[in-house]
Amino acid sequence: MSDKARWAGIYLLFCAVPLFIFFLPPMSPAIMSHKMFTNFLVLAPYLGLFLIAILGLQVNQTRIFWSTLLLVAIYHFLLHSSDFFDGDIPRARAVEIITVAYPLALSIIFMMRESQLWSDQSLTRVLLALWPFLIFTGLYNWSTKVYEGIFFWSPTTPMQIFHIPTLTLLSFGFFLLLVFLAAESKVKSYLVALGATLVPFLFISQVCLINNTPATLTIKNFNVIIAFSVMTLILLHAILRMYWQKVYLDILTEVPNRQALDERLATLQHPYSLAMIDIDHFKKFNDTYGHAEGDNVLRMVASTIKETLGPRVYRYGGEEFCAVFTDEEAEKSHIAMEQVRRTLDHRKFHLRELEREKPTLIKKLTTKTPKEQGKEVHITISVGVAYSHAKVREHHEVIHAADKALYKAKEKGRNQVISAEETA
Ligand code: GH3
Ligand code: MG
Ligand code: MG
Repeated sequence: MSDKARWAGIYLLFCAVPLFIFFLPPMSPAIMSHKMFTNFLVLAPYLGLFLIAILGLQVNQTRIFWSTLLLVAIYHFLLHSSDFFDGDIPRARAVEIITVAYPLALSIIFMMRESQLWSDQSLTRVLLALWPFLIFTGLYNWSTKVYEGIFFWSPTTPMQIFHIPTLTLLSFGFFLLLVFLAAESKVKSYLVALGATLVPFLFISQVCLINNTPATLTIKNFNVIIAFSVMTLILLHAILRMYWQKVYLDILTEVPNRQALDERLATLQHPYSLAMIDIDHFKKFNDTYGHAEGDNVLRMVASTIKETLGPRVYRYGGEEFCAVFTDEEAEKSHIAMEQVRRTLDHRKFHLRELEREKPTLIKKLTTKTPKEQGKEVHITISVGVAYSHAKVREHHEVIHAADKALYKAKEKGRNQVISAEETA
């Protein structure tokens, strides 16, 4: 299971907390209006969301900044909706409009490319994101009948369970589609978290529509605070994961980096084994096909190694990787590395660099064969494996032994796995 899917599952489980609290035996109004809720906990989502906005800015994600400010505004509105509107009906309409417009606004914010905070593009982003709110408000003021026709397709019955508009289905679906199609993997993790927070958001919209009278204000506010606290925690976790990835993941290959390896090595206990992996004749490859294509190959090699070895592979530096085997796996490390070597030896990589330059019509017409664009290349690796033992326990000694074995593999003609024992 991918990391994103695992976290999506955990977030969704956590999203059940507001539901659980809502269906708990009725809490006394004394608890719901307790000073702790009204004074302290009401502030927690504000503080958490502002923190997320600032953290987002610091990782050059103005989209996270703007979407979080929007969420702060919605939180503030839901808590104080009775200050904004007198009647129950306009208040309910406002909640309905927010429920439909929020996912659309999120989609607009994230669909546009990242930009500087103070730029024309940023201003356009904010103005466009406010459009769904303005359009739906205008629609309601223009004709209540049309508004209801668009927002509620299903006929209203006295037994109706869902008070949130049917149109929400479309706007939520639209946002989820965007999450699914998002290409940037780091933003995608945050979008997955945002997608999960739409569950408590939907839920709280429903609660606000049910408890829409002044008499039920305490219940509504209590649930708004709980739901937004859960949403804040999920988003905070997602943005901290972005920071974690920046510290521990190699930006090019997306496998753990040298920092992660050093920390892993520091905690290793005998017995273990290390494998040093080096791509063969990579300089020549770069010289022939260019650095950008070299980067692609590095990425493909890393993902092939990861397919077989899982999370125990790290980028050591340049075109070298290091794999860590502990306990009983240590003995089988030579076999595992031989398997990786063979997989790569049999795999063909297709160069796509030419496809990435936007071809002009003339270029398209003059390109000889389409095959040339996806030219196949053969990539091999050499591997040195070393085991810890009574005398060689320190990781720098084991790395040194694995390096020596790797050197031997190169000497012997490359595309092979050599153990330190064989070089002794
Ligand atoms: P050998 O089979 O002996 O390992 O030969 P080699 O050419 O692979 O070894 P050498 O150490 O001489 O060259 C390593 C090359 O790896 C040099 C450098 O251009 C390339 N390289 C290192 N890091 C990167 C990177 O991040 N991207 C790209 N494209 N190339 C890199
Ligand atoms: Mg090298
Ligand atoms: Mg090399």
